[in-house]
Amino acid sequence: MRKSVSKRFTQGICLVLAVIMLLAQVRVVFAKEPFVVCIDPGHQARGDSKSEPIAPGSGSRKARVSSGTSGVATKKSEYAVNLEAGLILKGLLEEKGYAVVMTRETNEVNISNAERAQVANNAKANMTIRLHCDSIGNSGKSGAVLLVPSKTGKYTAGIHPASKAYAEHLKTALQDAGVKVNGIFERSDMTGFNWSRVPVVIFEMGFMSNWNEDRMLADKAYQTKLMKAVVTAIEAYEKTTSSDTGVTTQ
Ligand SMILES: [Zn+2]
Repeated sequence: MRKSVSKRFTQGICLVLAVIMLLAQVRVVFAKEPFVVCIDPGHQARGDSKSEPIAPGSGSRKARVSSGTSGVATKKSEYAVNLEAGLILKGLLEEKGYAVVMTRETNEVNISNAERAQVANNAKANMTIRLHCDSIGNSGKSGAVLLVPSKTGKYTAGIHPASKAYAEHLKTALQDAGVKVNGIFERSDMTGFNWSRVPVVIFEMGFMSNWNEDRMLADKAYQTKLMKAVVTAIEAYEKTTSSDTGVTTQ
Protein backbone atom coordinates (compact mmCIF):
# COMPACT_ATOMS: atom_id res chain seq x y z
CA MET A 1 0.00 0.00 0.00
CA ARG A 2 2.74 2.45 0.98
CA LYS A 3 4.69 1.47 -2.10
CA SER A 4 1.69 2.08 -4.37
CA VAL A 5 1.04 5.54 -2.87
CA SER A 6 4.68 6.43 -3.33
CA LYS A 7 4.58 5.20 -6.92
CA ARG A 8 1.47 7.22 -7.66
CA PHE A 9 3.10 10.25 -6.05
CA THR A 10 6.13 9.83 -8.31
CA GLN A 11 3.89 9.43 -11.35
CA GLY A 12 2.01 12.56 -10.32
CA ILE A 13 5.22 14.54 -10.02
CA CYS A 14 6.34 13.30 -13.41
CA LEU A 15 3.03 14.33 -14.98
CA VAL A 16 3.23 17.79 -13.45
CA LEU A 17 6.81 18.19 -14.67
CA ALA A 18 5.81 17.02 -18.15
CA VAL A 19 2.99 19.57 -18.29
CA ILE A 20 5.30 22.35 -17.09
CA MET A 21 7.87 21.44 -19.74
CA LEU A 22 5.20 21.31 -22.43
CA LEU A 23 3.86 24.71 -21.42
CA ALA A 24 7.41 26.10 -21.45
CA GLN A 25 7.84 24.83 -25.02
CA VAL A 26 4.54 26.34 -26.09
CA ARG A 27 5.52 29.63 -24.49
CA VAL A 28 8.89 29.63 -26.31
CA VAL A 29 7.20 28.89 -29.62
CA PHE A 30 4.73 31.73 -29.25
CA ALA A 31 6.88 34.23 -27.36
CA LYS A 32 7.62 36.28 -30.43
CA GLU A 33 10.06 39.10 -29.84
CA PRO A 34 8.07 42.28 -30.49
CA PHE A 35 9.08 44.13 -33.64
CA VAL A 36 9.91 47.62 -32.42
CA VAL A 37 9.24 50.62 -34.67
CA CYS A 38 10.62 54.03 -33.76
CA ILE A 39 8.54 56.91 -35.14
CA ASP A 40 10.25 60.28 -35.40
CA PRO A 41 7.84 63.09 -36.31
CA GLY A 42 10.28 65.63 -37.76
CA HIS A 43 10.99 69.05 -36.22
CA GLN A 44 9.28 70.69 -33.23
CA ALA A 45 7.49 73.94 -32.38
CA ARG A 46 10.76 75.87 -32.33
CA GLY A 47 14.00 74.93 -34.10
CA ASP A 48 17.27 74.95 -32.16
CA SER A 49 20.17 76.50 -34.08
CA LYS A 50 22.76 75.44 -31.50
CA SER A 51 25.02 72.91 -33.21
CA GLU A 52 25.82 69.25 -32.62
CA PRO A 53 28.30 66.84 -34.28
CA ILE A 54 26.89 65.47 -37.56
CA ALA A 55 28.17 62.00 -36.62
CA PRO A 56 29.67 60.26 -33.59
CA GLY A 57 33.17 61.70 -33.06
CA SER A 58 32.86 64.09 -36.02
CA GLY A 59 34.31 67.62 -35.96
CA SER A 60 31.64 68.80 -38.42
CA ARG A 61 28.57 70.30 -36.82
CA LYS A 62 25.04 71.21 -37.91
CA ALA A 63 22.06 72.81 -36.19
CA ARG A 64 20.49 70.51 -33.58
CA VAL A 65 17.08 70.66 -35.25
CA SER A 66 15.61 73.00 -37.86
CA SER A 67 12.16 74.53 -37.74
CA GLY A 68 10.80 72.88 -40.90
CA THR A 69 8.50 74.33 -43.49
CA SER A 70 4.84 75.40 -43.51
CA GLY A 71 1.89 75.08 -45.85
CA VAL A 72 1.49 77.52 -48.73
CA ALA A 73 -2.32 77.12 -48.62
CA THR A 74 -3.08 76.09 -45.05
CA LYS A 75 -0.24 77.99 -43.30
CA LYS A 76 -0.02 74.89 -41.12
CA SER A 77 3.41 74.10 -39.68
CA GLU A 78 5.24 71.03 -40.91
CA TYR A 79 6.02 69.90 -37.34
CA ALA A 80 2.27 69.77 -36.61
CA VAL A 81 1.48 67.67 -39.70
CA ASN A 82 4.40 65.34 -38.93
CA LEU A 83 3.15 64.75 -35.39
CA GLU A 84 -0.47 64.22 -36.48
CA ALA A 85 0.67 61.58 -38.97
CA GLY A 86 3.03 60.04 -36.40
CA LEU A 87 0.27 59.61 -33.83
CA ILE A 88 -2.01 58.01 -36.44
CA LEU A 89 0.82 55.63 -37.34
CA LYS A 90 1.41 54.79 -33.67
CA GLY A 91 -2.27 53.80 -33.30
CA LEU A 92 -2.30 51.69 -36.47
CA LEU A 93 0.88 49.83 -35.49
CA GLU A 94 -0.21 49.20 -31.91
CA GLU A 95 -3.52 47.76 -33.18
CA LYS A 96 -1.42 45.20 -35.07
CA GLY A 97 0.67 44.31 -32.04
CA TYR A 98 3.83 46.25 -32.90
CA ALA A 99 5.85 47.91 -30.16
CA VAL A 100 6.19 51.63 -30.85
CA VAL A 101 8.70 54.16 -29.56
CA MET A 102 8.00 57.84 -30.28
CA THR A 103 10.79 60.43 -30.27
CA ARG A 104 8.13 62.99 -29.37
CA GLU A 105 4.39 63.13 -28.70
CA THR A 106 3.98 66.88 -28.38
CA ASN A 107 5.27 69.86 -30.35
CA GLU A 108 6.70 71.55 -27.24
CA VAL A 109 9.98 69.64 -27.05
CA ASN A 110 13.63 70.25 -27.82
CA ILE A 111 15.15 67.02 -29.14
CA SER A 112 18.03 67.20 -31.61
CA ASN A 113 18.39 64.95 -34.63
CA ALA A 114 21.27 63.05 -32.98
CA GLU A 115 19.19 62.60 -29.82
CA ARG A 116 16.26 61.29 -31.90
CA ALA A 117 18.54 58.68 -33.49
CA GLN A 118 19.72 57.66 -30.05
CA VAL A 119 16.13 57.15 -28.88
CA ALA A 120 15.85 54.42 -31.53
CA ASN A 121 19.33 53.03 -30.75
CA ASN A 122 18.63 52.83 -27.03
CA ALA A 123 15.25 51.17 -27.61
CA LYS A 124 16.98 48.64 -29.89
CA ALA A 125 14.29 49.42 -32.44
CA ASN A 126 14.09 47.20 -35.51
CA MET A 127 13.62 50.25 -37.69
CA THR A 128 12.91 53.97 -37.64
CA ILE A 129 10.49 55.91 -39.78
CA ARG A 130 11.05 59.68 -39.84
CA LEU A 131 8.06 61.71 -41.01
CA HIS A 132 8.57 65.01 -42.84
CA CYS A 133 7.01 67.22 -45.49
CA ASP A 134 8.88 68.82 -48.35
CA SER A 135 9.03 72.33 -49.70
CA ILE A 136 10.57 73.72 -52.87
CA GLY A 137 10.47 76.95 -54.90
CA ASN A 138 8.47 75.26 -57.67
CA SER A 139 4.82 75.10 -56.54
CA GLY A 140 4.03 72.64 -59.34
CA LYS A 141 6.16 69.93 -57.75
CA SER A 142 4.24 67.25 -55.81
CA GLY A 143 4.57 63.68 -54.56
CA ALA A 144 6.41 61.72 -51.92
CA VAL A 145 10.19 61.44 -51.59
CA LEU A 146 12.02 58.70 -49.69
CA LEU A 147 15.48 59.34 -48.24
CA VAL A 148 17.76 56.51 -47.08
CA PRO A 149 21.26 56.38 -45.53
CA SER A 150 23.94 56.29 -48.22
CA LYS A 151 25.48 53.05 -49.40
CA THR A 152 28.92 54.68 -49.42
CA GLY A 153 28.63 57.01 -46.42
CA LYS A 154 31.29 56.58 -43.73
CA TYR A 155 28.63 56.32 -41.03
CA THR A 156 25.68 55.01 -43.01
CA ALA A 157 26.94 52.09 -45.13
CA GLY A 158 26.07 49.51 -42.45
CA ILE A 159 22.41 50.47 -42.22
CA HIS A 160 21.98 51.13 -45.95
CA PRO A 161 20.82 47.69 -47.18
CA ALA A 162 17.98 47.23 -44.67
CA SER A 163 16.94 50.88 -44.97
CA LYS A 164 16.82 50.61 -48.75
CA ALA A 165 14.83 47.37 -48.52
CA TYR A 166 12.21 49.06 -46.34
CA ALA A 167 12.12 52.11 -48.65
CA GLU A 168 11.42 49.85 -51.64
CA HIS A 169 8.48 48.28 -49.78
CA LEU A 170 7.20 51.75 -48.89
CA LYS A 171 7.52 52.96 -52.47
CA THR A 172 5.44 49.97 -53.64
CA ALA A 173 2.82 50.39 -50.90
CA LEU A 174 2.43 54.10 -51.67
CA GLN A 175 2.15 53.51 -55.41
CA ASP A 176 -0.40 50.75 -54.78
CA ALA A 177 -2.41 53.34 -52.81
CA GLY A 178 -2.24 55.74 -55.76
CA VAL A 179 0.37 58.07 -54.23
CA LYS A 180 3.02 59.52 -56.53
CA VAL A 181 6.58 58.69 -55.43
CA ASN A 182 9.38 60.78 -56.89
CA GLY A 183 12.06 58.30 -55.89
CA ILE A 184 14.40 56.89 -53.26
CA PHE A 185 17.48 59.04 -52.68
CA GLU A 186 20.63 58.29 -50.67
CA ARG A 187 22.05 60.77 -48.18
CA SER A 188 25.29 60.76 -46.20
CA ASP A 189 25.01 64.29 -44.80
CA MET A 190 22.12 63.87 -42.37
CA THR A 191 22.84 63.88 -38.64
CA GLY A 192 19.82 61.70 -37.90
CA PHE A 193 21.10 59.02 -40.32
CA ASN A 194 24.76 59.21 -39.23
CA TRP A 195 23.92 58.63 -35.57
CA SER A 196 21.47 55.81 -36.25
CA ARG A 197 22.45 52.21 -35.68
CA VAL A 198 18.93 51.27 -36.75
CA PRO A 199 17.69 50.99 -40.37
CA VAL A 200 15.95 54.27 -41.08
CA VAL A 201 13.94 55.99 -43.81
CA ILE A 202 12.79 59.59 -44.09
CA PHE A 203 9.33 59.70 -45.59
CA GLU A 204 8.79 63.14 -47.10
CA MET A 205 5.03 62.79 -47.34
CA GLY A 206 4.48 65.50 -49.94
CA PHE A 207 5.14 69.13 -50.82
CA MET A 208 3.67 71.83 -48.60
CA SER A 209 4.76 74.25 -51.33
CA ASN A 210 2.10 72.73 -53.61
CA TRP A 211 -1.34 74.21 -52.94
CA ASN A 212 -3.28 71.02 -53.52
CA GLU A 213 -0.88 68.67 -51.77
CA ASP A 214 -0.54 71.03 -48.80
CA ARG A 215 -4.32 70.80 -48.25
CA MET A 216 -4.19 67.02 -48.58
CA LEU A 217 -1.33 66.72 -46.07
CA ALA A 218 -3.37 68.66 -43.51
CA ASP A 219 -6.29 66.26 -43.92
CA LYS A 220 -6.65 63.40 -41.46
CA ALA A 221 -8.06 60.99 -44.05
CA TYR A 222 -5.07 61.56 -46.35
CA GLN A 223 -2.63 61.27 -43.44
CA THR A 224 -4.29 57.96 -42.54
CA LYS A 225 -3.99 56.72 -46.13
CA LEU A 226 -0.26 57.50 -46.10
CA MET A 227 0.27 55.87 -42.69
CA LYS A 228 -1.60 52.73 -43.80
CA ALA A 229 0.95 52.43 -46.61
CA VAL A 230 3.73 52.77 -44.01
CA VAL A 231 2.17 49.89 -42.04
CA THR A 232 1.78 47.72 -45.16
CA ALA A 233 5.46 48.33 -45.93
CA ILE A 234 6.53 47.51 -42.37
CA GLU A 235 4.60 44.23 -42.54
CA ALA A 236 6.28 43.34 -45.85
CA TYR A 237 9.69 44.39 -44.54
CA GLU A 238 9.28 42.41 -41.33
CA LYS A 239 8.43 39.26 -43.30
CA THR A 240 11.60 39.49 -45.37
CA THR A 241 13.91 40.39 -42.47
CA SER A 242 12.75 37.90 -39.82
CA SER A 243 13.49 34.48 -41.25
CA ASP A 244 13.35 33.46 -37.57
CA THR A 245 9.71 34.41 -37.22
CA GLY A 246 9.89 34.03 -33.47
CA VAL A 247 9.30 30.30 -33.79
CA THR A 248 12.20 28.76 -31.95
CA THR A 249 12.30 25.61 -29.93
CA GLN A 250 15.01 26.58 -27.51
ZN1 LIG B 1 11.19 68.41 -42.46
